[in-house]
Amino acid sequence: MDIEAIYKEADALLEGHFLLASGKHSNRYLQSAKVLENPATAAKLADALAEIIRKAKIEVDTVCAPAIGGIIAGYELARALGVRSIFVEKDDGNMILRRGFSIEKGEKVLICEDIITTGGSALKASQAIEALGGKVVAFAALANRGFCHREGSTLPQKEECRLPENVPFFALEDFDFDVYAPESCPMCREGSKAVKPGSKG
Ligand code: ZN
Repeated sequence: MDIEAIYKEADALLEGHFLLASGKHSNRYLQSAKVLENPATAAKLADALAEIIRKAKIEVDTVCAPAIGGIIAGYELARALGVRSIFVEKDDGNMILRRGFSIEKGEKVLICEDIITTGGSALKASQAIEALGGKVVAFAALANRGFCHREGSTLPQKEECRLPENVPFFALEDFDFDVYAPESCPMCREGSKAVKPGSKG
């Protein structure tokens, strides 16, 4: 399956001259919610991710997603794996379980996101689950932004990655874009101006 083509087709992989939240510039940007706009595409991607997780023989009781971004991917992955789906949500800088969701002692939980960038939200979700007695058995995302090392990839882990190294991370594809400081951005040098992704309406 050509994951990059699926993202492009869904207008989830944008090309241009972008100003990132970090202040750096890039010629590509992943608008990862867009790939889940079509439920059939979301199901296809989640089925492929579930297949990788099954092949790795990871036992999962429950998929937990950090809200809001991870909810659809997490729900779809849970469906594909035939397990329970829950989510944690932000509360004063941490992630907490609300809405009657609970975790049993030793419950095997996979943390799922739509995209893992540095993995900060996924890490907070895993800490919330472990504080409640659950066991985090894996991390998963449809897309890996290229900072963390996913199972089966030759792309090494970068220092920005916050996922724990002793827990496997599964994703469908690496999207390791070049980013530039504004003063060394080749697109700026050619005279174009960086725009915030999504600002074109
Ligand atoms: Zn630039």
